[in-house]
Amino acid sequence: MKVVLVGFRGTGKTSVGRILANRLRVPFYDTDALVERRAGMPIPEIFRQYGEAHFRALEREVIASLRTAEGVIGTGGGAVCDPANVADLRRHGTVFLLSAAPEVIHERIAGSDRPGLTDLPPAEEVRTLLAQRKNAYLGAADACIYTGTRTPAGVAETILRQIRGEAGLFPAERRERDGLLGKFGLETVREMIERDPGLLVCGIAGNPCAHSKSPLLYNRLFAHFGMHYHYTRFEWPDAETIVRLANLLPTKGLSVTIPFKTDVMGHLDETDDHAAAIGAVNTVVRCGGRMYGHNTDWLGVRAPLAHRQGARAVVLGAGGAAAAAVYALVSLDMDVTVLSRTPDAAQRLAERFGCLWGRLEEFKGVDADVVVHATPVGMEPDTRSLLAPGDLERGTTVFDLVYTPPETPLIRAAREAGCETIPGTEMFVHQATEQFRLITGIAVSPALVREMLA
Ligand code: NAP
Repeated sequence: MKVVLVGFRGTGKTSVGRILANRLRVPFYDTDALVERRAGMPIPEIFRQYGEAHFRALEREVIASLRTAEGVIGTGGGAVCDPANVADLRRHGTVFLLSAAPEVIHERIAGSDRPGLTDLPPAEEVRTLLAQRKNAYLGAADACIYTGTRTPAGVAETILRQIRGEAGLFPAERRERDGLLGKFGLETVREMIERDPGLLVCGIAGNPCAHSKSPLLYNRLFAHFGMHYHYTRFEWPDAETIVRLANLLPTKGLSVTIPFKTDVMGHLDETDDHAAAIGAVNTVVRCGGRMYGHNTDWLGVRAPLAHRQGARAVVLGAGGAAAAAVYALVSLDMDVTVLSRTPDAAQRLAERFGCLWGRLEEFKGVDADVVVHATPVGMEPDTRSLLAPGDLERGTTVFDLVYTPPETPLIRAAREAGCETIPGTEMFVHQATEQFRLITGIAVSPALVREMLA
């Protein structure tokens, strides 16, 4: 058994970890103490003589050496900021995030001899680092426990109950969960979590979503990283019911697809700034009973086009994918024009981001270096293309967000015209790498995602 405690300094990792290890009769590994042993000096001295980077390198070595350890592991507060550490800690382990309010943490660590990590006053440093590390903490954890008002023994007891599968739903909630699982056609998920109380669940929320490649990708990634997770499909006509079911299950994250990317926002506890600006959530992280909304679609458009920073770009279409595309292109300092068959929609989208707009027929007048196609035209079985080879100039970059078939009519036309082409699968690959990191805290390369999808 491997139980890992992560969280900011002063959240009780060491005191809870000792009690927990004692109760479980397993060793307790304190990574800070192991770093000090390895360096032959206390942490303040490591910082003074060699700096933070050296401390992080030693911490990385210590955590890698514990990859297959059995016992309770208490980590340093910043350990989960390195995704390689998270991958090692998560391997065949259960990760608990211990949290507390910034004022509580500040009070608990006041007078400590540990060096500051910023030039900020101590209370301000706690608040700033907590905000910076928030996504890393929430991603790395399987469960979150608030320790602010509780004793270490009480927190250890809660963790023990969770590990033993004793912390569960009230009978009425269990009946509701089982009823919904039956309606969703997910009886196998019920059997899996009853057989195996430590199993965590993720899934795609959409209607329809039977075609989605996310279950294949995620289940392969979970196996690859030794994670005790199962990814399923939540296909239902409304987002509210899906969110309710997700809250009744040991859910860690959701991928959100058509038609719920906007609807789901009304059912979440928090939405990040990017998702709020785009007006859509495609990723939900659940931890400590709260749901956090993100958007990674825009990163799926941004990453393959990062080499065209500052270019003149056209987005064809003015729907949800187009909004993520415009947001991405503006973030790359591109000069963006939105063209749509419905000019009002193009105008509404363009004005949100200070861009130009027009009708599809005005394409040639824009003289674009980058074209992002965000309509369903050309998606199987449609064989049409909004642009012909004669509309395109050599050297233009054409990114077709449609990904079935692999070579769409637009991509073929662009290739014939001598353009650089980027297929829609690249958006899926890059948004998925970011989504996996938000939900699990583990960084995967686009190459690994492509391999897992093959
Ligand atoms: P959406 O919100 O329904 O928007 C569709 C847009 O396409 C609207 O602007 C619509 O214009 C326009 N459109 C529809 N049919 C058209 C036609 N025959 N001619 C010209 N314009 C037309 O859909 P979405 O979510 O943005 O998705 C758009 C495309 O992106 C889909 O093909 C989807 O598969 C793809 N996508 C790919 C990924 C990926 O990972 N690669 C992710 C998301 C989406 P009106 O307002 O006039 O109807």
